[in-house]
Amino acid sequence: MKIISINAGSSSLKFSLFNMDDKKIIASGLFERIGIDGSCYTIKYNGEKIKEEIELANHTDAVKILLDKLITLNIISSLDEIDGVGHRLVHGKDKYKESCLITDEVINDLTLFKDFAPLHNPANVLGIKAFKEVLPNVPMVGVFDTAFHQTMEEEAFLYPVPYSWYEDHGVRKYGFHGTSHRYIAKTISEHLGRDDLKIISCHVGNGGSITAIKDGKCVDTSMGFTPLAGIMMGTRSGDVDPSIITYIMEQEGLNAKEVIDILNKKSGLLGLSEISSDMRDIVSAMASDDEAGAKARRAFLKYTRTVTNYIAQYYVLLGGADVICFTAGLGENSEPFRKKVCENLACLGIKLDAEANKVMGEFKKISSDESTIPVYVVPTDEELMIALDTLKLIA
Ligand code: ADP
Repeated sequence: MKIISINAGSSSLKFSLFNMDDKKIIASGLFERIGIDGSCYTIKYNGEKIKEEIELANHTDAVKILLDKLITLNIISSLDEIDGVGHRLVHGKDKYKESCLITDEVINDLTLFKDFAPLHNPANVLGIKAFKEVLPNVPMVGVFDTAFHQTMEEEAFLYPVPYSWYEDHGVRKYGFHGTSHRYIAKTISEHLGRDDLKIISCHVGNGGSITAIKDGKCVDTSMGFTPLAGIMMGTRSGDVDPSIITYIMEQEGLNAKEVIDILNKKSGLLGLSEISSDMRDIVSAMASDDEAGAKARRAFLKYTRTVTNYIAQYYVLLGGADVICFTAGLGENSEPFRKKVCENLACLGIKLDAEANKVMGEFKKISSDESTIPVYVVPTDEELMIALDTLKLIA
């Protein structure tokens, strides 16, 4: 049985083709600059990488070429081999609490909810429509980023603002990265042989969120109404006092959208360091004694402080923690990041194994045997989670 996981952006389409018998990727790739000059695709399979510039007028073109290449490269022998298509969908508001078969109602809802994810929901619809046109008889499943967080109680998801904002306009915490946090919870629960765990899942990449999970369900998460909230990120500020927005509008003669844009794209590591949004650049700059070193250190300290604060908050919320997991770009790869966060949490009895903490991109326990809470690196796999949900729903 073969399933394709799709992540469609406004001008891109990422795919992974899985053999569900062994849950391994047969081929994966990316179609880029769809509808823009210089469009191209990359397909990886059998240890090879093929890249070609090709005109991609729209998402349907990309899907047609993708399926054509899968056949001409002998990755599959016929389109009949594709049993299902799973789509990563961003915003299902509070209507979609789990993955579901994609119907016309789902497509309409994605459009209806577009103000909640203006960059993503319309792009998701483009991806779905393209597959519907090219593979009309293959079942499709939608896997929402927001769904996992739907188990949060009012106390967690409400903001202390007029209640009518929630009732009339849907202002509440939705949370994101849900598919990743669900994958982490499933993987660590299987590894430890328990499904009644209190887990603090730290998905820290360019975007990042921390989630408190109990018995496999989300109790609270750091992102909010949008992905701008929570921990400091590569270019996003995370939580800030909202009055800063009107103050900066007045001081710099900007409108609200422009300030929010700065909070999304020019803040975080990039904003504080004035060097880079990438932790690797920050860590290498930190070593120097010059001004760049000082800038990098202040960004690193603030970054790790905000992550520490959420872990500490969720430790209390959960009444302790059975395990802390790090995942995504920094969580999986950045030794100094994990070291600093765990040092900040030393009063909880957390101790890292310095040698184990050198791990990059591999499942590994990185805490020492004396640590009161085990700490793991768990590489995330949202594509596999999407394929697994698709398999379950089309069965
Ligand atoms: P996204 O949120 O876009 O999915 P990723 O999860 O791929 O992002 O994370 C990308 C970020 O991870 C980079 O910007 C970088 O800060 C960080 N990162 C990736 N590899 C390393 C590494 N080896 N050391 C430190 N940081 C890394």
